[in-house]
Amino acid sequence: MSEWCQNKSCPSKKNQNQIRGSKGNKYYQSNKSSGYYKYWCSMGCRDVWWQDHKDTCMNAVGFIDKQVLPLDDAWYVEYTYDWREESHNRYHLRNKLKGIDRVITKQQAQTPEQIAEDHNWSTIDDTQAKELAITLGLAS
Ligand SMILES: [Zn+2]
Repeated sequence: MSEWCQNKSCPSKKNQNQIRGSKGNKYYQSNKSSGYYKYWCSMGCRDVWWQDHKDTCMNAVGFIDKQVLPLDDAWYVEYTYDWREESHNRYHLRNKLKGIDRVITKQQAQTPEQIAEDHNWSTIDDTQAKELAITLGLAS
């Protein structure tokens, strides 16, 4: 692991903050990698690196075939905000593949932790949504 941006042309950005050295002997240097991008200083440098190395990465990770999500696993909970709608109609248990859209309560849509955090938009994950569908007799 290096502390420097992994895009070899990072100094070519010629940003003011990349200048080092004394008069008559100045040069641009790579930025340090950022906490967010980990190996690069920026999204731009990551994109340059990715263009050069995507085939190497894909061959190392391996290719996968088409993935499918079957009908019985297609449940999800969604929070919808619509000012025209009553506030009790905001949480939906949905499975579009089954043509089901069921209004549920906030208590059903959120975990006790999410209710405690008081973020209306956060909801249970898809596995929990499937369990809820079974509990409500919509799935088996
Ligand atoms: Zn960079």
